[in-house]
Parts: sequence; structure tokens; C-alpha cells
Amino acid sequence: MEIKVTLASPGNMREKPGDESSLGFGKIFSDHMFVMRYREGTGWHKPQIVPYGPLALDPAAMVLHYGQEIFEGLKSYRGPGGSLCLFRPEKNFERMNLSARRLCMPQIPVGDALDAVTTLLRVDRGWIPASRGTSLYIRPTMIATEAGLGVRPSAEYLFYIITGPVGSYYARGPEPVRILVEETYVRAVRGGLGEAKAGANYAASLLASKNAKESGYDQVLWLSADGREEVEEVGTMNIFFVIGDEVVTPPLSGSILPGVTRDSVLTIARDWGMNVSERRIGMQEIKAAAAAGNLREAFGTGTAAVISPVGELRYRGENVVVNGGAHGEISRRLFDEITGIQYGEIPDRYGWVRRVE
Ligand SMILES: *Cc1c(COP(=O)(O)O)cnc(C)c1O
Repeated sequence: MEIKVTLASPGNMREKPGDESSLGFGKIFSDHMFVMRYREGTGWHKPQIVPYGPLALDPAAMVLHYGQEIFEGLKSYRGPGGSLCLFRPEKNFERMNLSARRLCMPQIPVGDALDAVTTLLRVDRGWIPASRGTSLYIRPTMIATEAGLGVRPSAEYLFYIITGPVGSYYARGPEPVRILVEETYVRAVRGGLGEAKAGANYAASLLASKNAKESGYDQVLWLSADGREEVEEVGTMNIFFVIGDEVVTPPLSGSILPGVTRDSVLTIARDWGMNVSERRIGMQEIKAAAAAGNLREAFGTGTAAVISPVGELRYRGENVVVNGGAHGEISRRLFDEITGIQYGEIPDRYGWVRRVE
């Protein structure tokens, strides 16, 4: 793919953060973005890298009315010797195509999407922070841009990629989080959009997560729409439990996002010879395991936080405490293993790291 590059003029370069220890998440954006348009009949055209800036959209653009939007989230790191690395990026673009299919949006050849990301990273190389734990977050996004209020799939789309330096996802660091088990609202239903990475799922999640924060919790644990018993995800992450010697995560049932980190954790834990299950798990079982002293760990997995230990679940007015509220052994080992592979400190035995030359 031939990508036209228009650099920001020196006077329009954005200010780089001076202090890498307080980057936060998703607040700072790099100098450039990738954009590419799609029209029915023409296909994808005009791939370009341009200075970061506002998009011009018709107020009737379909994304603004009916929510035809999907996105991805991945990171670029400084590997050995300052080399630029990506972690399993092809998984993100394969998933983006699954999301696109569900929302009647066009497919993007994975090779073209990888070209777009790597070209953008080369242009904004100077934005990738160097300290361990920091990274450049990459946000590919596709929106429906055709103007019109008829309800049907748009005939025009914009695919763009923005990036920005990030520190650790959680303000409090890798401390175990406190979770409210949500029984009123659901994030997704089987047959709905839950397995697509679509903005609409996040819109559906805001009220419950706002209520949880107002009650002093960090996030919510989502239960399945049918019965409000089986566990699905935690906040915007996949969930794992360690019960006795079994590592359990809910199966990809249709309402759960197939996380790249989830897949990496499953692969590593199986490799370590652990007893790993993808099976349904309900709140009754978790409560009983906690009461019997068998609930050893609970943790969320996702690109942003990698592994986020859960210290406590609030369920029907009771506190289900996990591992005395402390960071568990397995989640710490998994965190060290995945970030070690990402930062090139541990041999990449799965071929997950892609170097950008
Ligand atoms: C993105 C996302 C995840 C995590 O996926 P990763 O590929 O591991 O980053 C989990 N759940 C939801 C709802 C998500 O949107």
C-alpha cells in the first residue's frame, strides 16, 4: 500500500510530555494520524499520514446517529536497544475485521492495516516513551461517514489511527481493585454486539460504571443478561479466577470480547502446565469458593492494564474478598511474563513480538 505522508510543520508540532512518570492514559496524542477512506464501488482509497487534527464530518454522518463505529487498542513499546515493538498486532486487525462484519462495515486487509501502523510509528517514533511500563497506545478506529438519516449500512467510511504515549492504566498502580457486581444493567447480550469492539458497548456500560464509582468501587463485574448469574467481564477487561488449582475464564459465548491478552494468558498458563478451563462460572460458585477459602485470585486482562488484580467483589450487600485483598501470585507471574516478553526481557517463544524497523 502506497501511503502519502504529509508532515506537521515545525511550528505545528505538539508539545511532548516532559515527565514520563505522569503520562496517564489517553490524554496526550502524537503529531500525526493515519487516515484512509472507503466508498462502495471504489473500495479503500487515499491512505495518508497527516498532522493530527479535527475531522470534518457532515452533521448527518451516519456514525453520529446510529453508532456505526468500531475500534481497536494496541500498544507499541521500546524493546531491546530502543527498538520499536508491537505485541501480536495482527490479532487486533483480525478482530477489527470480525467487528466490521458484525456492524456491516468493510473489511481492511490485515497487511494494509499493519503497513499503516508501522508507517505511522516510524513517523512518530519520537513519541514512544522509553521507561519500563510506558508505551505508545494505538487506537485504530472506523466510522460511517455517509450523510443521511435512513437506517441502513453507510456506503462511506473513514478508517483512522491515532496514537499517544501512556503510562500505567490505573492511577493507583497495580493495586488490587474493588469491584461491584452489577445486577441491574448488562453490558451485552448473546446475539448483540458484545463480541465486537464497538463504541456502542461502551455507551451501554457507562451508567453502571458511573454508579459503581459513586459508590466507591473501581469498576463493575458484568453478569450474563439471561439470569444475571454467570460472570462475563470486568469493566472493559476479560475476567479470570483461580479456584483451588484451576484457572477459570468464561468461554467466548457471543457476548464476551475475545481479548488478545485473554488468549495470551490462556496460552502461557497452559504452557506452565496449569489446570486451565474456559467454562461458565457463576456468582454462587465464586461465593462458595471464597467461603471455603478456595478463591485464590481474580484478575482482569486487557491491553491497557495487561493484568489487573481484583481484591474484592461486592455482591448483594456482602464483600467477597479475594486472597485477603492482596495481589495474587499467579496474576503477578502472568504480568511479569507478558510484560517481560513485550519489553524483550524474556525470550519471545511464541513469536508474539513484531519489530518495526
Ligand atoms: C478490548 C476489550 C477487552 C480486552 O481485549 P485485549 O485485546 O486484551 O485488549 C476486553 N473486554 C472488552 C469489553 C474490550 O473492549
